Amino acid sequence: MPIDAVKRGTYDRTIPIKVRETFEQVMACNGNGLCSNFDVNSPMCPSMKISQQRIHSPKGRATLMREWLRLQVKQGVNLALFAEDINSYKLSWPQKITRLYHTLRAKSGQYDFSHEVKEAMAGCLACKACSTPCTVKIDVPSFRAKFLALYYSRYLRPISDYLVANIELTVPLMAKQPRWFNFILRQGWIQTLGHKVIGLTDFSQLSTPSLQQLAGHAALSLSLPQFESLPEETRSQFVFVVQDPFTSYYDARVVADFIHLIEILGYRPIFLPFSANGKALHIKGYLTRFAKTAQKTADFLNRLAQLSIPMVGIDPALVLCYRDEYSQILGNKRGKFEVKLVNEWLMTVLAPKPAAKLTAEKWYLLGHCTEMSLLADSAQQWIKIFAQFGRQLINVNVGCCGMAGTYGHEVKHLANSKGIYALSWGNRLQKLPKTRCLATGYSCCSQVKRIENETIKHPLQALLEIFK
Ligand code: SF4
Ligand code: SF4
Repeated sequence: MPIDAVKRGTYDRTIPIKVRETFEQVMACNGNGLCSNFDVNSPMCPSMKISQQRIHSPKGRATLMREWLRLQVKQGVNLALFAEDINSYKLSWPQKITRLYHTLRAKSGQYDFSHEVKEAMAGCLACKACSTPCTVKIDVPSFRAKFLALYYSRYLRPISDYLVANIELTVPLMAKQPRWFNFILRQGWIQTLGHKVIGLTDFSQLSTPSLQQLAGHAALSLSLPQFESLPEETRSQFVFVVQDPFTSYYDARVVADFIHLIEILGYRPIFLPFSANGKALHIKGYLTRFAKTAQKTADFLNRLAQLSIPMVGIDPALVLCYRDEYSQILGNKRGKFEVKLVNEWLMTVLAPKPAAKLTAEKWYLLGHCTEMSLLADSAQQWIKIFAQFGRQLINVNVGCCGMAGTYGHEVKHLANSKGIYALSWGNRLQKLPKTRCLATGYSCCSQVKRIENETIKHPLQALLEIFK
């Protein structure tokens, strides 16, 4: 490029300041290419590794997004309006009606640059690996959610988006009759319908027996006033278990095992009533609904936080959503509640004990990509916890497992999901004893189950085994 050519800054400055602030990281990408990491055992950008295409890298997505913002402004689209109140942006009736018209035109081949940007965003697994090593912490899932909110103000959403977005409403109801729903979900015609019409595949089976049946009376939920009436002097005995839709309804065994571990350690576990987390809404760009859900759950958890009883959740992606996406969307209204991961809580409980002598027995931890990216200390914490019980835990470097919530269940991403798994997890697991392999993420465990037809444990389940 000649030294006096028109540079990127000239184009960027045509975007109003308010919009640039709303898409701050997109504007801040400096193009240094640190995100072009092709080490298959590093979490950084699985979509780029599997596609080998720049548009599927964090840098590529940021570049497309900047150009899209510029073109939107050039076309006279009032993005500033969206930027001003992103949490309660509502479509007007004319906008809702014209979505059908625009969608039909798109289906008949009408070109729109937005579709190219959408394709690049759709390939993102929302793993968050780009939110830490990148110098500007670009965090593609954050601006992708804003893009999708805007894109679907012009075009109709696919049916699968509605199913995914409502999963936290429907699954607790389905879990009341798990055997019946599992029977239905196993039917060939349902699977064909899911695959060919809805675009979702390999539906997970609900846990049978259910969590309540497994965990027993000791961990039953109480109501909020009952929690608040717990005598102050007894509160230090309790641990609140924060439920999430994946482990509570699809992997109840791990939650029940956590309840038993808490009891073995001399504490009294109590389930908090299920309150939607909203992560699926964020991933699909339902920002207004996500803001409402996050506020409701944050208010509930803030009220409980006043009791000074530790709150602990199991699935890393959902626990870290309380810290990351909740802070982004709610700002100061998030409050100060803290939900710990199991390892974080165990570190507070086990800290005073001296480490025991290590046995020759080895365990292997394959980390969750979001957890490794947002909480780099997690693996080290598990290693210390295992050492307290005289066991050696080895941290195995892996990339993304390819499941990432619902990505691996979407028909259009199925081949890539399995390809991403083969790049790193598949290779690693071939060389390790699977009964000694551990993973903290529900997604990772379900991907291993789907591809290897083997179950790998959560580290807390290995601890329980050690205690027994
Ligand atoms: S590492 Fe971050 S700032 Fe650098 S090119 Fe990639 S996305 Fe842009
Ligand atoms: S969230 Fe993951 S898949 Fe998406 S751009 Fe970032 S690193 Fe790549």
